[in-house]
Amino acid sequence: MAKYICPTCDYLYDEYYGGPAPKIEPGTTWEQLPEDWHCPHCGEPKKYFELCRRADGKQDD
Ligand SMILES: [Zn+2]
Repeated sequence: MAKYICPTCDYLYDEYYGGPAPKIEPGTTWEQLPEDWHCPHCGEPKKYFELCRRADGKQDD
């Protein structure tokens, strides 16, 4: 499971946990998020988020 970080407020979207507002079910991958999804804290659009590689190391692109 990957994590994506908001460049503006450092909100972390974790695919394992999903997210709030609008509710994202746990296990929802980044690709499954709607294109108009945005940061629940600051409203930053999905496209500006950056892949966060720090926690579990390997990614399978
Ligand atoms: Zn944000």
